[in-house]
Amino acid sequence: MAEAGSLADRVKQQADIVRVLGEYVRLRKNGQNFTGLCPFHSEKTPSFAVHPVKQIYHCFGCGAGGDVFKFVMEMDKCDFMEAVRTVADKCGIALPKSRELSPEERREQQQRTALVELHREAAAFFARQLESTPEGKAARGYLADRGLDAEAIARFELGYAPSGGDALLRHLKTKYPEKLVELAGLASRDANGRPYDRFRRRIIFPISNESGKVVAFGGRALGDDLPKYLNSPETPIYVKSSVLYHLDRAKESIRAADAAILVEGYMDAIAVARAGISNVVASCGTSLTETQVKLLSRFTRRIIVNYDPDTAGQAATERSLAILLEHNCDVRVLALPGGKDPDTFIRSEGAAAYRKLLEGAPAYLDYLIGRARQFGLANAEQKLRAMNFLMPFVRRIPNALLRSEWASRMAQQLRVDEPVLREALRRAAAERRSEIKTQPALAGRGATPAERRLVQMLLEGNDFRERLGEEIRAHQLHLGLETEKILGVLLESCAAGAPPDATIVAPKLEEYDRRLLFEIAFESAAEASWEEAESCLEVLRRRKSEEELAAVQRQIEACAGSRSGEDAEELRALQARKLELRRRLASMSQ
Ligand SMILES: [Zn+2]
Repeated sequence: MAEAGSLADRVKQQADIVRVLGEYVRLRKNGQNFTGLCPFHSEKTPSFAVHPVKQIYHCFGCGAGGDVFKFVMEMDKCDFMEAVRTVADKCGIALPKSRELSPEERREQQQRTALVELHREAAAFFARQLESTPEGKAARGYLADRGLDAEAIARFELGYAPSGGDALLRHLKTKYPEKLVELAGLASRDANGRPYDRFRRRIIFPISNESGKVVAFGGRALGDDLPKYLNSPETPIYVKSSVLYHLDRAKESIRAADAAILVEGYMDAIAVARAGISNVVASCGTSLTETQVKLLSRFTRRIIVNYDPDTAGQAATERSLAILLEHNCDVRVLALPGGKDPDTFIRSEGAAAYRKLLEGAPAYLDYLIGRARQFGLANAEQKLRAMNFLMPFVRRIPNALLRSEWASRMAQQLRVDEPVLREALRRAAAERRSEIKTQPALAGRGATPAERRLVQMLLEGNDFRERLGEEIRAHQLHLGLETEKILGVLLESCAAGAPPDATIVAPKLEEYDRRLLFEIAFESAAEASWEEAESCLEVLRRRKSEEELAAVQRQIEACAGSRSGEDAEELRALQARKLELRRRLASMSQ
């Protein structure tokens, strides 16, 4: 992405967001903005706005928003670089050749290219070992026992890492510097500093990135060697948390089916794909990451999770499910009978049986309700226990409507008629609102005009922006405000000398704050002056002093009853502070 940074920037500066979005949405001029019907949710009156100066869009209905690239990524369901290319194309901007990269960018790019080549070479080496060596023959026997024939080996480009010690290294060294092999994570050094192969006596599963390039390897021990599974370490081309195994082969069918099956390991993904269900990916780890969910939700939001349901994996499964729910995914859970993993199940029961269970996979909360039933529902106490088990999951659903829908469904299924339990459920459904702020429309009702105005000023290219940021930071005036997080990231970006751009800071914010930021960015305002900034700051200073005064007053009351000498001294100090704050506040109101 580094080489894209400067390039994307240049494209963004030259592109006109109104023109690009206008090809997808009918936009009409409306004051300083353009508005139209939102392409991301269905509506009859326009709540989708495009800001031609700030070069951002925002939907006041569903909260979608960002810059021109984000829009194209979401509409075309493509990655960042594709979006840059699309925008450049639409605006007739010629993409520069690689020689225009800075020397450092070029070095990094060359290094990545070399790493990709080296991985291809290594994959071919592993494949040859599996195919045509005596050791490979034993490995093929092992795979055959697990139902993987020559066809499967070829299709998933499986390989074998021999036990020798440095066979791969010796092979790669004929073409690449030893340092690069180490950088790729394919060689380690022993205590004497002698390099040796990372993968030895293991079945090798090449791990590809989204565009199908091998960027890492997973190795399964052939014997009882530990660990059973060993992966490549992170490298300049492999960030574990942002790769999903098999996505490169699955993405088209995921898009077509508008659903993805999520399994845990390579063997599971391979088994499911071989059962004729190609829209399967593996997280290759115990828990799904945020980045993986974002990656996957570019293709679909309907996910069927088929993790190994053993108790050890349960916590990880629940974490993964929570991340999916928080990204508004429609989650179903497939728990295979007998606690089998997909690979074992398909081998013993067959593809048809798996398909059938897959089709009947219950929605996540129905699955949870099923588990809650195990607490028994004979009396109010058991029902309460079942509900206490379910409540935390309900609270994680970001959408309030959905949450209350689920609460009534739970009440029904658990046959909860007791008013007390009903009330507890109702409260749990309502609770999330304050807990994690993701109310849809009208975000930021609590943000005062002064703080909103300060956010705007920090988003503008005025000449006092840095001074303003410094003043807020020096006195920590943003703490406790509705816009605390927003101001926080703006102050950081200000201090770092970054240009005023909502889309630069937006990724650092949670959904609620991101929406609020965009809403504020769209509020129209006259050109700001330092005098106006100063008057907004005064509102914040006043608020801070008032809060401190209240805190001091509470401490005074707490101390007043005591007779100890220490407390008497503290009381005097508090009284003095109170007086000082009173004076300060009085001077402010002038
Ligand atoms: Zn919308």
